[in-house]
Amino acid sequence: MINLVLFGPPGAGKGTQSEKIIAKYGFVHLSTGDLFRKHLSEGTELGLLAKKYMNEGNLVPDEVVIKMVGEKIKENPSASGVIFDGFPRTVPQAQALDALLASMGQSISGMVGLEVPEEELKIRIRKRGETSGRADDQEEEKINNRIKVYNEETIPVANFYAAQKKYHPVQGVGEIETIFNAICSAIDSFPN
Ligand code: ADP
Repeated sequence: MINLVLFGPPGAGKGTQSEKIIAKYGFVHLSTGDLFRKHLSEGTELGLLAKKYMNEGNLVPDEVVIKMVGEKIKENPSASGVIFDGFPRTVPQAQALDALLASMGQSISGMVGLEVPEEELKIRIRKRGETSGRADDQEEEKINNRIKVYNEETIPVANFYAAQKKYHPVQGVGEIETIFNAICSAIDSFPN
């Protein structure tokens, strides 16, 4: 059982690389951004709650995210692996995930961090905004806020896993296939 945290700023390519990882390893994809967007489109209570945070590029409160992830993990008890994408995004979320996995006799196998310069991220997100229909991809101010939130609240999560010797940085600029190969090398080095 592999528990992979796929880490990186907004626009780093986590979604693209997740698809390739799923195709190769058959892992289950747990993207908190996708889950919130699904709730939003279905108009659930959780979706309504998350909407105001998401549209401004702010984080949804930890307790809400942790509860949603906890329920989702339990839906897939027999998966060969899970990709956590967009989660944990704060240190309290990382601590909650560690505790949750420990209660199931599991742990995080490793974190792969896609590293992309800020200017490149802004270009990618603006481009995605032309077709994604995502409110948070459209305006300069919202894009900048997401990057600011990432720098302030999410970067510490990389340090959290680095302290456990689980952080594997991968250069996120270049050919998609080259980046994917680097990710595979990291995954293949995880203890089973
Ligand atoms: P991005 O492309 O910015 O990485 P995601 O699709 O992962 O975006 O998430 C979109 C939005 O959903 C975030 O800006 C945030 O409002 C909310 N969100 C997603 N995951 C989390 C999380 N783990 N904690 C808090 N908020 C989250």
